[in-house]
Amino acid sequence: MTNDNIQDRIAGEAIGTATFNFDCHPRVACFTVCCKNVNLTLYPYDIIRIKNHLSLDSEDFIRSHTFLVKGDNPFFPTVKLKLKDDVESSCPFLSKQGCTVYSNRPSACRTYPLERGVIGSSERSTIKDLYFLTDHSYCLGHNEPKEMDVNKWIRSQQLHDYNMMNGLWAEIDMLFRDNPWKGEGSGREKQQLAFMVCYNIDGFRRFCNIHKLFEQFKLAKDFKNRIKKEDSELMKFGFEWLKHILTGKSSLQIR
Ligand code: SF4
Ligand code: SF4
Repeated sequence: MTNDNIQDRIAGEAIGTATFNFDCHPRVACFTVCCKNVNLTLYPYDIIRIKNHLSLDSEDFIRSHTFLVKGDNPFFPTVKLKLKDDVESSCPFLSKQGCTVYSNRPSACRTYPLERGVIGSSERSTIKDLYFLTDHSYCLGHNEPKEMDVNKWIRSQQLHDYNMMNGLWAEIDMLFRDNPWKGEGSGREKQQLAFMVCYNIDGFRRFCNIHKLFEQFKLAKDFKNRIKKEDSELMKFGFEWLKHILTGKSSLQIR
């Protein structure tokens, strides 16, 4: 099936500009039900936000809070949040009062009750967002009177930075779907480097310093300063560096 076929099929189900009723607050009878037994995929930017919230090194966070599965990308693993080993399989960040990482909660938790689909093509470098409205019977938020649409929801959940970073990640994910490891295969050096850039940003920062990576490219002074201070800027550099080493084509210019 080509991307265009997928686009035709999905576009019929996407919510578009339609309005929907939804609200979530501690007074809904189902409060925190959705934080139990949850199957939560973590994207690269989610990890930056949560590990910084917890003041953890990304390497420690990956080891203690996540596990890897074979997801829908046949050539790169998907990262899942490890749940508590309690009877309800609760999210490790759940307390009686609610989410303890609320200001830095993952994309999926922010986007719910919507789900974001990104479609596009790595050859054409085109990415398009589509949103779908989920309707789980346990979720009583749909009975609340507040009227929303996709744009209002994105603003209210402060999803802008997440969507921007997840859009960049979607391009890299598409690149990985073309099996850029070729003869090297899975789990070898290039894939390990790619995993480090995407999910272990503190490890990548150490790698950059050891290998003097920033010095190898012509970087604008203000970008270089931002890279040194901000994990998300370093991730943007890392994504371009991955394109550079895997395809030879990126916005980076060698010195
Ligand atoms: S309203 Fe829905 S999203 Fe909110 S706590 Fe209940 S189940 Fe979770
Ligand atoms: S991160 Fe927060 S909102 Fe998301 S599942 Fe865990 S407790 Fe719930």
